Amino acid sequence: MDCPYETKEVRDSTIVENDLAFAFLTNIPIVPGHVLVCPKRHVPYYEDTTPEEKIAIEKLTSILRRTLKKVFGAQGFNYAWNEEKIGGQGVPHFHLHIVPRKEGDTGIYKYDPREFLYRPGPRDITPREELSEVTELIRKGI
Ligand SMILES: [Zn+2]
Repeated sequence: MDCPYETKEVRDSTIVENDLAFAFLTNIPIVPGHVLVCPKRHVPYYEDTTPEEKIAIEKLTSILRRTLKKVFGAQGFNYAWNEEKIGGQGVPHFHLHIVPRKEGDTGIYKYDPREFLYRPGPRDITPREELSEVTELIRKGI
């Protein structure tokens, strides 16, 4: 297995763990304290984790949320995962990013979802009609 999250270096740098999951610092942090939480088992997607692994990840997330508030004075968080190359997934071992945020931090401080609009331009909200169409499309697909 050639997984970068299963090297001795990464496993030795574990911050906190339980039977099924572990957490460590990303080596490309957005801000100090940017942590990754992973299942111990090698699975590429959240979808592949078992209910027990999801609970294990959730337990570590809860511990880290509390700890990052205490240690870094976090006032808020970004929780995120990327899936597949097109979604920005760099390592094919599922990992949840926990990014502690506070007033004045420098990490992605210009983050604005509007910059990622698929139809850029001055538009406050998508028309209700369009939202209804997409809602219907997804409902029919379930
Ligand atoms: Zn792996």
